[in-house]
Amino acid sequence: DNVVEINNLVKTYENGHIKALNGIDLTIGEGEFVSIIGPSGSGKSTLLNMLGALDLPDSGSINVAGYDLISNKKLNEFRAKKIGFIFQLHNLIPNLSVVENIEIPMFTSKLSNSEMRVKALDLLDIVGLRDKASQKPSKLSGGERQRVAIARALANDPSIILADEPTGSLDSKTSTKILKQLIDLHRSQNVTLIIVTHDMDVAKLADRTIEVLDGKLVNAGENSLLDDKI
Ligand code: ADP
Ligand code: ADP
Repeated sequence: DNVVEINNLVKTYENGHIKALNGIDLTIGEGEFVSIIGPSGSGKSTLLNMLGALDLPDSGSINVAGYDLISNKKLNEFRAKKIGFIFQLHNLIPNLSVVENIEIPMFTSKLSNSEMRVKALDLLDIVGLRDKASQKPSKLSGGERQRVAIARALANDPSIILADEPTGSLDSKTSTKILKQLIDLHRSQNVTLIIVTHDMDVAKLADRTIEVLDGKLVNAGENSLLDDKI
């Protein structure tokens, strides 16, 4: 089954004449790991924002996890239940402890406070940071913060993880660890993983790499197609 179905998606920003997305067609299967590459300004973040219903297109159709993101009115529900976001700047809330940050996405669930705490600590186990549960994010290294962001992205059992340069600010050893963790989660829980990256070493780990250029997809092939480009 497809978890993403996009047809002829167009997006123009109000102050710009450039089409940030200029007719995108894309399908992604359930449980797939897809990387999105392309030069700066090509439309990668815009595409990711559309997938997470953070912004609406001008025209075209976009269906994600069974939600029609254009006509559906329950976009808050969609974001809360279906999507885990990981951004480069991991936007953790500084005044909350690590474990409290992970509980945030669970507030829309039916879990009690103690169930939320148990689940948040379990997620910290998965990313190897249980011993940091009561620390504030400012006490953690960049790699540790990004692992907290991964745990938080998993807190609502999303069917899709959207990650925008998740390892962009990390050294290569740390970023390998972070990616390994994401890929393990994708495999063990059949989570669809969509990663925007500038790093070809990261991109080629995916089942499939999509290249965006001037708001269009120029390559949506299997990853073997990339071999002669590296
Ligand atoms: P990336 O590192 O993914 O290339 P960008 O620097 O393109 O990120 O964008 C970072 C943020 O700034 C995004 O939220 C994007 O929507 C916004 N942004 C990018 N270009 C512009 C622009 N020309 N005007 C206003 N906001 C922009
Ligand atoms: P990428 O992620 O590949 O760097 P973006 O999706 O951020 O590209 O940007 C695609 C195009 O849309 C660029 O020309 C960028 O300047 C423009 N853009 C992105 N976000 C905004 C925004 N919030 N307002 C105006 N223009 C934007």
